[in-house]
Amino acid sequence: MNAPDTPFASDAAVAAAADKAEPRVIAWRRDFHQNPELGNREVRTAKVVADHLRALGFDSVREKVAHTGVVGVLKGGLPGPVVARRADMDALPVAEEVDVPFKSKVRTQWNGMDCGVMHACGHDAHTAILMGVAEVLAGMRERIPGTVKFLFQPAEETPPVGEEGGAKLMVEQGCLRDPDVAAVFGLHITSIYPTGKIGYRSGPMMASADRFRIFLRGVQTHGAMPWRGIDPIVIGSQVVLGLQTIVSRRMDITKEPSVVTVGVFQGGVRQNIIPDDVKLEGTIRTFDEAQRTEIQEHVKHLTTMIAQAGGAKAQVFIDRGYDVTVNHPGLTDWSIPVLGRIAGDANVSVVDKICGSEDFSCYQKEVPGFFYFVGCTPPDRDAATAAPNHSPRFFVDENCLKLGVKTLSALALDWLAANRG
Ligand SMILES: [Zn+2]
Ligand SMILES: [Zn+2]
Repeated sequence: MNAPDTPFASDAAVAAAADKAEPRVIAWRRDFHQNPELGNREVRTAKVVADHLRALGFDSVREKVAHTGVVGVLKGGLPGPVVARRADMDALPVAEEVDVPFKSKVRTQWNGMDCGVMHACGHDAHTAILMGVAEVLAGMRERIPGTVKFLFQPAEETPPVGEEGGAKLMVEQGCLRDPDVAAVFGLHITSIYPTGKIGYRSGPMMASADRFRIFLRGVQTHGAMPWRGIDPIVIGSQVVLGLQTIVSRRMDITKEPSVVTVGVFQGGVRQNIIPDDVKLEGTIRTFDEAQRTEIQEHVKHLTTMIAQAGGAKAQVFIDRGYDVTVNHPGLTDWSIPVLGRIAGDANVSVVDKICGSEDFSCYQKEVPGFFYFVGCTPPDRDAATAAPNHSPRFFVDENCLKLGVKTLSALALDWLAANRG
């Protein structure tokens, strides 16, 4: 089947090139898997990527963007706009439990702690897929109407404490400028789908993620004489319950869902001593910027008033994390037939909203972007019960890599052909 609107490079040509690149894509993925590196430490990975892009004759290969990122530019032989695709390169502080010949045995330090390192989110696959796309497109560059930019980004899983990094720093350091990018595409492999399936959603698809920290100061006293102090444990408990009323009683849940979770409650050292202080930490997930602001205000206000009512003092800190991942509706509508053509229409479907977050959202704030999921659970396993991303048992069926290469390549070629002006 050929693309109806692309006289420049046919689906058959892309498929043949992707088939040819497949053994190397698998080898790269295994190499990255066996040698995983944490956020802002992807030195070896970045070098493999940069060497590959140079060997393909890229017009420019910029290294050390946002610490360890690589930005490659491939100019086509025909005039046209600039489109970008992104892969993340970082692994997670997880000790691998999957029994494969290229299992990771790497250990390192993460925020001062010794830990195993594993590509438990599949970013090894993303990096290998994008290297495969680079190979496919470089081989047909004379027929490409425009420029393709390749963003290999560090630290999607957030950088170490005290460091900057990830998509935000990539954008700040100009990865979308010179030449200026008009649209960006990216994918994520996921075990919740079998290999061959693709999931997407128009508009808000993944949540924003903000962390809050609450410090409550009471007055220490003997546990047998609570009237002589101010008990921050009881007040902290009221705060936890108060925060649960934000989503259930203050937010218009017919617009978008949201989540407020307290995950840390620390205070006290002994059963009969009421302590001075309590610390709470939690996360806020939303799919809408206005709701995000509203919930942040409620967290601050409720906490302060509850503490005040009990005679304690509260300090509330909200650390903004990733924004909502919003797929540009027009770009999404345009992308779906392309994905359907490559993967088969029956294999492309709408996913439910995901309360996890992604820093691909950073690029989408700058230019229209489309992010989609590619299934990676082998057909002989049940995707519904497969170990999820971030699990030490996360398993990737390497047959999914080729679909990633084909779809990202076709989306680039088709988009350039459709927008060449
Ligand atoms: Zn992840
Ligand atoms: Zn990820």
